[in-house]
Amino acid sequence: MAYDTSNVFARILRGEIPCKKVHEDEHVLAFHDIAPKAPVHVLVIPKKPYVSLDDFTREAGAEEVGRFFKAVGDVARKLGVDQSGYRTILNTGGHGGQEVPHIHAHILGGRAIGPMVMTR
Ligand code: AMP
Repeated sequence: MAYDTSNVFARILRGEIPCKKVHEDEHVLAFHDIAPKAPVHVLVIPKKPYVSLDDFTREAGAEEVGRFFKAVGDVARKLGVDQSGYRTILNTGGHGGQEVPHIHAHILGGRAIGPMVMTR
């Protein structure tokens, strides 16, 4: 699947639409989810254009993948949910329920998040 440069996170990265930023460095951006499902709901994205976890782990090297996952943990600590605990979710593709085609890790916390698989 080719990367769609008009997706909402690409537009955030280009500064075309605002976000509530939590962290930014050369490689990643973290910002609050616009429709939070928990008291803490933050999205962490690499700045490079990868569609999904599948695309990312096909195309990126171990160092880049590792750097991203380290950033997710760093952001969770910055949010102060590391002691109480949190859930990370990476939805991938259709069956995974991925809506935005730029890889993102959800960090959910601030209360017990409940059963692992959410039904609706
Ligand atoms: P997913 O279903 O894993 O692709 O999740 C996409 C997430 O992006 C959802 O939780 C949305 O609420 C969130 N989202 C969509 N648009 C924005 C936006 N402009 N700023 C922040 N979060 C957004």
